[in-house]
Amino acid sequence: MRSGRPLSLPWEAASMSFDHVSAVSAVIDDQVAVHAAEIDRTGTFPRANLDGLAKAGLLGLLSAPEVGGRGAGLRAAAHVIERLGSTCGSTAMVLLMHYAATAIIEAHGSEETRRAIARDEHLSTLAFSEAGSRSHFWAPLGTASANGDGQVRLDARKSWITSSGDADSYVWSSRPLQAEGPMSLWLVPSDAPGLTVAGPFDGLGLRGNGSNPVTGEAVPVPKGAMLGTDGAGLDIALQTALPHFLVLNAAFSLGLMETLVAKAAAHLVNTRLDHLDQSLAEQPTQRLAFADLRTRTDGVRAFLDDTLTALETGREDATLRVLQVKSVAGEAAPEVADGVMRLCGGSAFRKEVGVERAFRDALAARVMAPTTEALRDFVGRASLGLPLM
Ligand SMILES: Cc1cc2nc3c(=O)[nH]c(=O)nc-3n(C[C@H](O)[C@H](O)[C@H](O)COP(=O)(O)OP(=O)(O)OC[C@H]3O[C@@H](n4cnc5c(N)ncnc54)[C@H](O)[C@@H]3O)c2cc1C
Repeated sequence: MRSGRPLSLPWEAASMSFDHVSAVSAVIDDQVAVHAAEIDRTGTFPRANLDGLAKAGLLGLLSAPEVGGRGAGLRAAAHVIERLGSTCGSTAMVLLMHYAATAIIEAHGSEETRRAIARDEHLSTLAFSEAGSRSHFWAPLGTASANGDGQVRLDARKSWITSSGDADSYVWSSRPLQAEGPMSLWLVPSDAPGLTVAGPFDGLGLRGNGSNPVTGEAVPVPKGAMLGTDGAGLDIALQTALPHFLVLNAAFSLGLMETLVAKAAAHLVNTRLDHLDQSLAEQPTQRLAFADLRTRTDGVRAFLDDTLTALETGREDATLRVLQVKSVAGEAAPEVADGVMRLCGGSAFRKEVGVERAFRDALAARVMAPTTEALRDFVGRASLGLPLM
């Protein structure tokens, strides 16, 4: 992918026997919908929701059947993230980061960790962004150095790690140990000595994410904690984690848009202008505005569906679609959210229609790396025959 070359992973499901649609619906009804507003209000990590997702077999959704996982493909994961995104953005983002980390662990991690994820007993996440290089995740400044005792010492100032403190492990980027190249990757247990989480997270949106800065100072890991080979971390991140992250991030934004548009529809149909004896839906101006929001949302769904099909069928433009899909959805979501805020008027400004939480959550995706600006550059490069970076 770094060179814009075709994506080569198996994107289709290895096993279709697991009913992810029913599984996620049940957790949403029993847990996620019940806790969503409270998680937003208090900014607490959605532990009960994660326990529910684990119990339903959804932490191990992408794990291969050979290690006991559900063996589902990216389309199933996109459905799960979309449904969660439409109910609790924080829970959706925590699971999204876990799925992106799982993709790397499945390809390069130990069998023990793979089995723990497949058993739904292990939550992971990505620790890429750093205070020094900010959203430029392809240029870590954190270091890995040989400790002399066969161990490796990691030092870094990670600026954002979703689920920090609550995840079991971090997929951690650093400069290579010895090799040439921009990056190496490590699986770091979250309770390793030398890690300090600076919380609690107090964000505008996704308030239950626990996306805190984490400092690593002389964090000891065995050499075997390296994921892939020394110096190959950027290629692994681009080929493996990035497609999952970009596609699932688009599904997350789509979930927010769907809930926003549904709430706008309910408001227009159920709210009346008594002096005219008409509903708001009967007003042409409101109807046209609503139609634009519906069409924008459906456009994103069509783009996401096409991206998944391109991956599943190995289409030549799959890489391009993957590079486009997060910003297509991530830019549409705040626009749709803003339109719904306007359409639902004063009741959206208060919390009664339940729109403003999705509005705040919709602002995150475009600044999550790769940001919209970085993706625009990647798309331009991929389309013009240049290397991505
Ligand atoms: C809710 C949330 C959860 C997150 N979770 C994680 C996580 O789990 N793991 C992780 O590794 N990271 C995570 N991040 C961090 C994220 O991926 C980005 O690194 C971070 O949001 C970037 O913010 P910044 O201010 O540090 O970036 P900056 O690099 O300062 O970017 C600020 C703005 O400037 C723009 N910009 C930067 N460079 C350029 C350029 N060269 N040309 C044009 N425009 C440019 C960017 O597009 C962006 O809009 C999370 C972020 C958020 C908001």
